[in-house]
Amino acid sequence: MSWRHDPSPSADLTTASWVLFDGAAVLCPETTLFWRHDQLPCRLDGERRHVIGDWQGRRYVAADCSGLDLGWPLHNLRELLAGASVEEQGVLVRASQILLWARQHRFCSACAQPLRAHEHDRARVCPSCHLLFYPRIHPCIIVLVRRGRSMLLAQGVRFQQPILSTLAGFIEAGESAEEAVHREVLEEVGVEVDGLCYVASQSWPFPQSLMLAFMADYVSGEIRCDPQEIRLARWVEPEEDVALPPPVSIARQLIEKHRRSVLG
Ligand SMILES: [Zn+2]
Repeated sequence: MSWRHDPSPSADLTTASWVLFDGAAVLCPETTLFWRHDQLPCRLDGERRHVIGDWQGRRYVAADCSGLDLGWPLHNLRELLAGASVEEQGVLVRASQILLWARQHRFCSACAQPLRAHEHDRARVCPSCHLLFYPRIHPCIIVLVRRGRSMLLAQGVRFQQPILSTLAGFIEAGESAEEAVHREVLEEVGVEVDGLCYVASQSWPFPQSLMLAFMADYVSGEIRCDPQEIRLARWVEPEEDVALPPPVSIARQLIEKHRRSVLG
């Protein structure tokens, strides 16, 4: 499955599915995530509205309702994603990132002129200095460190719930994904790894991240947590019953992949 990109402003949107955001929160009709055109709670056009593309033959439009005070209940994006289908996740993740980019790119960062939508591409363009602004994507690594059957899992200081997860971090300028894995693991828990194996990637909107997921093997070092980043870290056995990230997350997918390889 993949997106077909059609940001044409003249596209027919009356048959599209609409996803509405108020800031980082989602406005839903009563029983589903998405709105039909004839259900929309108000007229949503101009800069508020973005055709985000076609997914499995259906066109999706994202709209930013912030400041309109429409009176519909607001839903937390992270909670919605945890219970969403793969298709719904794809739409929510893409819509939230495009709307955030549009909100944060209203003026040129070089000359401060108001930006305009690009005619063909999903980009904002400065009419004065012609600088282009594309949606921002932050590449991150996420890694499950293995030592035999055991998995190195950690609780980040920013986690809102006491779950154990894999290690993750942003890739720095001039760094490869593999270099970022070695650096992040050493910085966060003081451990050296080797035998890196790329598994999969996932777009994740907290914020506009592209998670590149790896498995890695423990080589040396005792666990020593960076208190700025990690509250606790420890070796977890595959059959242990601990609170884990939701199944939708690539962290959980790494954990389940390792469990399947060990437990069969
Ligand atoms: Zn400019």
